[in-house]
Amino acid sequence: MLMRMLRPIYNRRQVANLPYITVVLFLGTVQAQGLKQVAITIDDLPHGGTGIAYTFPELQRFTKEFLEPLEHARVPFIGFVNERRRATLNPAQLRSLLDMWLESGGDLGNHTATHPDLNRISLDKYEQDILAGEAVTRATLEAEGRKLRYFRHPFLHAGQDLDTKHGLEQWLAAHGYTVAPVTLDNSDYIFASVYATALQHGDRKKADSIRAEYISYMQSIVDFFDRRAVEVLGRRLPQILLIHASELNRDAMPVLLDMFRKSGYTFVSLEEALKDPAYKEPDDYAGPKGFSWIHRWALTKGMPLKMEPDEPKAVLREYERAHGSNR
Ligand SMILES: [Zn+2]
Repeated sequence: MLMRMLRPIYNRRQVANLPYITVVLFLGTVQAQGLKQVAITIDDLPHGGTGIAYTFPELQRFTKEFLEPLEHARVPFIGFVNERRRATLNPAQLRSLLDMWLESGGDLGNHTATHPDLNRISLDKYEQDILAGEAVTRATLEAEGRKLRYFRHPFLHAGQDLDTKHGLEQWLAAHGYTVAPVTLDNSDYIFASVYATALQHGDRKKADSIRAEYISYMQSIVDFFDRRAVEVLGRRLPQILLIHASELNRDAMPVLLDMFRKSGYTFVSLEEALKDPAYKEPDDYAGPKGFSWIHRWALTKGMPLKMEPDEPKAVLREYERAHGSNR
């Protein structure tokens, strides 16, 4: 009897109710898992990820072209500087390039002076390299009434043993630095290297195909870490993307940003992302690996390490042919 009374009502409203049901389910999922947000962070300023040695005018042109799509998209972003990796640049020239980053709406952080590997040098030497890498970046920010706040580890190596890791953490805090973690770790530099070689050889067709492969690969990275965050933390967190200041990202940026938008992401600043309590999760990982903070939290919780998707074999083979297989 009850079913007979309800059925006509249900049938009549079935179609009209569908969007409502969809919205309820969607909101339920969002509430349970959190919003899709991403902070864009770019390493190895003023230019990195490929071995090309630019002159200052070439770096000016590269920087302008790199920043255009980011400025146009009005998304927050931060660049991490290696002040002394480019021996040909004097401080005034570096300053003018970093000014361009601020003028385009970016923030700046310290990525050491010369990009040393904490797995290979003493903590003391490493700290000296951080200090040697801050003068121009700090001056650029302070001229705009801003502060140098963030540090990004080269190779994401944060200490092979707990003493080094904790020693560096304390040193960074005492010097006013906040660590900029990475969750969306990836091998963009492998694509970037092969891409730059294709450009140098004037091979547009190959460059186009590498860019397309790069975007599919990045989509697989984003999808993987979206799921993995929920497995490890029980919900989403604002992801932090690491990419490099390369020709590849200069040319792929509009499509890369679009890929995030189409996957439901909105863009937040690093500062905004770090407000999420997930970034206060315990991280006891000490070891040689430079990988996503999501992996560090998983290992700290005693969960197994589950790695992100690999880059396509053909691209990797080409990279290894040019650089040797040690990476
Ligand atoms: Zn780097």
